[in-house]
Amino acid sequence: MVVSKRIYVRGIVQGVGFRPFVYNLAKELRLSGWVLNDSFGVTIEIEGPSKRVKRFLAVLSDNPPVLAQITDIRIEDLPEFGAKDFVIKESRERREKFTLISPDISICDECLQELFDKNDRRYRYPFINCTNCGPRYTIIKDIPYDRPKTTMAEFRMCSRCEQEYRNPANRRFHAQPNACPVCGPHVWLVDSEGKSYQGTGRVSPGS
Ligand SMILES: [Zn+2]
Ligand SMILES: [Zn+2]
Repeated sequence: MVVSKRIYVRGIVQGVGFRPFVYNLAKELRLSGWVLNDSFGVTIEIEGPSKRVKRFLAVLSDNPPVLAQITDIRIEDLPEFGAKDFVIKESRERREKFTLISPDISICDECLQELFDKNDRRYRYPFINCTNCGPRYTIIKDIPYDRPKTTMAEFRMCSRCEQEYRNPANRRFHAQPNACPVCGPHVWLVDSEGKSYQGTGRVSPGS
């Protein structure tokens, strides 16, 4: 039996990899529908055989992304909508807004490894981040949380970063602050007269 549900998820669910998580879970369970960020959290519509939808709901509430903090899940039955695929839809903004915002998260182990890997393109790049770590609260100017509503908006992703951002299998899928030395922010040192000093602008181990 095919069932269709709309699910409202509230709490810290933006900027914590929730949409990519839902997308991958739906794909894995071969369910159709969509997910989006709105001014209240995350909204999902899902459709498929009832057993697999049940499984989807169980994983959603029991095993959400590590950084997520769900305060409330509301589920409604829908008439069958017959979607063929599962997609991440564009965020929807409403007049009233209320969602919890994630704090900045210190670097994760995987990013730390890349940071000091000479062959990695983000070797010693101070603004390295991914879906599991990096700035959130500091860069968010408005919700729903998307790159255009963050201070990262003016940094246009290079093609390699863009590829990561669009690849559901990548750790940086939908990571809004995604950046690299080619396209992202840089640091430099100036003295009190504004004179800048030569340096690599890259972090060193132990710094
Ligand atoms: Zn990371
Ligand atoms: Zn880049």
